[in-house]
Amino acid sequence: MQLYNIKDHSEVVDFAQAVRQGLGRQQGLFFPSEIKEIPDVDSILDLPLVKRSEIVLRNFLGDELPNLGEVLARAFTFPAPLVKVSENSYALELFHGPTLAFKDFGGRFMAQALQAVSNGKHITILTATSGDTGAAVAHAFYGLENIDVVILYPKGKISNLQEKLFCTLGKNIRTIAVEGTFDDCQALVKKAFDDQKLKEDIGLNSANSINISRLLAQVCYYFEAVAQLPKDRRDNIVVSVPSGNFGDITAGLLAKACGLRISRFVVATNANDTVPRYLASGKWDPKETIPTLSNAMDVSRPNNWPRVEELFRVKGWDLKELAYGALDDSQTEEAMRKLHAAGYIGEPHGTIAWSLLQDNLKDGETGIFLCTAAPAKFKENVDRILGTDIPLPAALAERADMKVLSETFKPDWDTLRDYLYRNVAK
Ligand SMILES: *Cc1c(COP(=O)(O)O)cnc(C)c1O
Repeated sequence: MQLYNIKDHSEVVDFAQAVRQGLGRQQGLFFPSEIKEIPDVDSILDLPLVKRSEIVLRNFLGDELPNLGEVLARAFTFPAPLVKVSENSYALELFHGPTLAFKDFGGRFMAQALQAVSNGKHITILTATSGDTGAAVAHAFYGLENIDVVILYPKGKISNLQEKLFCTLGKNIRTIAVEGTFDDCQALVKKAFDDQKLKEDIGLNSANSINISRLLAQVCYYFEAVAQLPKDRRDNIVVSVPSGNFGDITAGLLAKACGLRISRFVVATNANDTVPRYLASGKWDPKETIPTLSNAMDVSRPNNWPRVEELFRVKGWDLKELAYGALDDSQTEEAMRKLHAAGYIGEPHGTIAWSLLQDNLKDGETGIFLCTAAPAKFKENVDRILGTDIPLPAALAERADMKVLSETFKPDWDTLRDYLYRNVAK
């Protein structure tokens, strides 16, 4: 597989390099040089998830990653059920993995792929988190040989349960509570990546959200969604995607580009609506990010958007084909109550996608909305808004009484540098 840098087409890398490197020169994103159509898509829809995903990804990867089947079997260890919500709309539940959000798909595949392409060389993943990404990264890399993970988070600024979810693992997962803000954590991570000697000495890698391996993994569950639709419902499919950094919808568009029959997509955002406003006016005008109930979508400069535009360009598609909309918090709460009345408990992110799907769906179309997180992950808000008392899933409940293993640091570069040399240098 070849990929080029969107900002500098002369930089061309293979999959292994793109996974190891993350970003290209000038912070440019990597994009596949060729997107082939999968022959006879209908027939692979009958296969089980892992087997079908192997065919879908082989179509991108060519002869790279020879043990793709094993990588997928270790990454996709949980289902993505499609649940019927009304006559013409279905929820694709992507939250049955270890950290109860769709990021488990991309995170786990990235971890396995990174291990597979590093040929036994030691790697250190260093990342800062304000909560959710840290959990997905920690669980994805947990127990992998030759990989150490160090996660920084602002002490006291993430929820108790969030902390328990990724700071109780141990083994190759090290967590540091920084006495400061998320920005302090990010600044420390940046310092580490600027230190060339340290970078070499500990094999530093960021494994962040723009890694191409994540997107490829996510392509697979769009096929899984269509595969679960009744055969007479597969003709006019509309998919609504709750979007923040726009990785998820990029993956859906890639699935369409390689032959999955999806008619249209709906871009669904919260009040951080840079893209809906852009699609309406043609003007790119990011505003300051505002905190919302659907906080994983609180992004005003979505870093995967250039990939969406690139795909439309190479496929000769028109951005006008994208439906779009945005809901503020009070509209989100109202939509959650409506969805509940229709018999389904949704959390804020997925519910925004459901609501905008309802606004857009025409007669004869079948709608799918992506449920990106489990309602229990947002239990406080969900219970407050819906008057429910939803149970904690086992993945959270079993960690609630475990001991937090984090060390506590001042936001000080020398302290972190010493720590890294003492703990993860090989
Ligand atoms: C990350 C996230 C999103 C946004 O996905 P993008 O790929 O960044 O657009 C939506 N919902 C939840 C629950 C998330 O964690």
